[in-house]
Amino acid sequence: MGLTVEACAPRTAKPALTPSRPALRLPLVNVSWDRVIRTTIGLRPHRPSGFVLKADKLDGKTVIHNFGHGGAGMSLSWGTGNMAAELALAHAERKAAVMGSGVVGLTSARELQRHGFDVTIYAATVPPDTTSNMSLAGFTPTSGLVDFQNRTPEWEAQFRQAVRIAYRRLQLLVGPKYGISWINNYAPTNNEQAGRGSNALLPADVQGSRVILQPGEHPFPMKYAIERPEMRIEPSIYLDALMEDFLSWGGTIVIRTFETPRDVAALTENVIVNCTGLGAKALFSDPELVPLKGQLVVLTPQPEINYSTSGGARQPSTPDTGFVHMMPRSDGIILGGTSIRDNWTFDIEEQDRQRVVEAHIELFNAMRAVRGTS
Ligand SMILES: Cc1cc2nc3c(=O)[nH]c(=O)nc-3n(C[C@H](O)[C@H](O)[C@H](O)COP(=O)(O)OP(=O)(O)OC[C@H]3O[C@@H](n4cnc5c(N)ncnc54)[C@H](O)[C@@H]3O)c2cc1C
Repeated sequence: MGLTVEACAPRTAKPALTPSRPALRLPLVNVSWDRVIRTTIGLRPHRPSGFVLKADKLDGKTVIHNFGHGGAGMSLSWGTGNMAAELALAHAERKAAVMGSGVVGLTSARELQRHGFDVTIYAATVPPDTTSNMSLAGFTPTSGLVDFQNRTPEWEAQFRQAVRIAYRRLQLLVGPKYGISWINNYAPTNNEQAGRGSNALLPADVQGSRVILQPGEHPFPMKYAIERPEMRIEPSIYLDALMEDFLSWGGTIVIRTFETPRDVAALTENVIVNCTGLGAKALFSDPELVPLKGQLVVLTPQPEINYSTSGGARQPSTPDTGFVHMMPRSDGIILGGTSIRDNWTFDIEEQDRQRVVEAHIELFNAMRAVRGTS
């Protein structure tokens, strides 16, 4: 699809690009300041060398660490949760504590239950008051996850195992109960080579398919558009469903804050899975954990929008808007594109809000003009 003219062209005489399929028609997002209904902030738990997944000892107890998923926790958590549960099986007891009730804690707790453990979650906050609720959230298993120069072969092997498990698990949860669905993502670009490479970290069976739509085949104000199916997760539906599953399998949730490792060691359970995300920095003195501050601007929902976008209009005449993206969800049209390293504040970044909203106003106005309905 879409590639046939280029692929068959002789190298010397490049033919004019003609569309090989009818132009795609997409409903347009109405982006305007008066449609903004909220702005949210979340601090992604980033570690330059990637998430921690390992068993340690603490005063005779087994503590399995499972934290530091950066901008990829919604995507990867079933994988690392499953691997954490496998580590827990080395202990003779089948009673476990999980610290944290974000996506990593909830999926770890479910995996422990599936492996026969009686589980209690201890957490300072539960959904909707977790970072996980503040995510966009697409299947983005390498986003803000690791600084490429810091990864080790051992970590990479763990990552590949985790991403394979997670990709399969999420696929099987598609449907309204968990708020997971597939939609097409479009990345408009003027660069013909964009979208032809692959993500070096991802196994081949997780790369997914891509089609480069040619001029005339898409409604974007750029030469090409890269079309890619992606999984979309609606955080509030998904996290509530995970909590319900956990409780209906006999789990217990206790609201409490751990101030020191001594508090952790005082738990009655001898198997403890630490899923405290960014909280692990202070609690277990992790020197690497650093927030990547994220901000989302949410517009009034538009149920007819059935695709997501990555990137703005980026006409030669307009300044580079940086990375921006749009994800339609039932709780709103989500506009993102903010990642500020080592910023611990929950203050709204007004300059970023302007950049992200204006970039999308420009993109969808330009699409309107392409369509001729402006
Ligand atoms: C703007 C934004 C967009 C994102 N987009 C995506 C995306 O598209 N795809 C994707 O995969 N990911 C995305 N993410 C990343 C994702 O949200 C995180 O990776 C994920 O939420 C991390 O989950 P977690 O369970 O480790 O942490 P959290 O959700 O923060 O949960 C931590 C839990 O630990 C508890 N806790 C912490 N410290 C203590 C303590 N001392 N005592 C007791 N309890 C404690 C907390 O109360 C909470 O229950 C995004 C994040 C943001 C902010």
